[in-house]
Amino acid sequence: MRKKIVAGNWKMNLDYNEGLGVFSEIINMVKDEATGTQEAVICSPFIHIHSLVQLAKGYKVAVGAQNAHQAESGAYTGETSAKMIKSVGAAYVIIGHSERRQYFGESNELLAKKTDTVLKNDLRPIFCIGETLQEREANAHFDVIKTQLVEGVFHLDAAQFAKLVLAYEPVWAIGTGVTATSAQAQEIHAFIRKEIAAKYNQEVADSTTILYGGSCNPKNAAELFGCADIDGGLIGGASLKSRDFVDIVKAFN
Ligand code: PEP
Repeated sequence: MRKKIVAGNWKMNLDYNEGLGVFSEIINMVKDEATGTQEAVICSPFIHIHSLVQLAKGYKVAVGAQNAHQAESGAYTGETSAKMIKSVGAAYVIIGHSERRQYFGESNELLAKKTDTVLKNDLRPIFCIGETLQEREANAHFDVIKTQLVEGVFHLDAAQFAKLVLAYEPVWAIGTGVTATSAQAQEIHAFIRKEIAAKYNQEVADSTTILYGGSCNPKNAAELFGCADIDGGLIGGASLKSRDFVDIVKAFN
């Protein structure tokens, strides 16, 4: 069956020492407290990754990046490659977060290339999809999500697709304090799984981890994670506080 994952996205928050402090608290809490989550992940800024991987040795917390360049290497000043991320021991890379789509103009076509490069370097993409408020109000959310899937990840073969984690993140719920209701989230997760089954097959669909993201917190996580097609969360703001993050990790209990 599919893996239950809770991944934190620190975004551009926490300096080096602050990050190490929060991460140390997280690994100690996760060690001491039973969780139903099979994989807890922290996706930090690049500067933290190497040190977090060292700290995480022997603990049940993985480390990821928040972005990677689509090229293997080359003259791309300021960029970081998937190979570099792999070389410091990260396991995951967030691809297609709505902030990257919105502020850095990342298209589905570009994100498809990034996904290929990340997979080629033996990292697991956490591929984000989700509609804006305007798109939901225009009743276009199913079409938007289907297009993001088709153009972003449905070019993968079934073996490559099996390494992917998907994250449904309605843009109107990210960092706003407005969470999708569990019924709204479940409806979209079931739709995503149905589309995966139509493209690949039911077995692939049933084994794909689909996370929910958008103002998830210790109070609402258990209800969201209790839905049949929600396999965990991608957590922004609440992942910056160790207690809140670990309480979300424990929401499967
Ligand atoms: C995110 O950025 O992926 C996210 C879900 O943020 P928040 O939890 O703060 O809404």
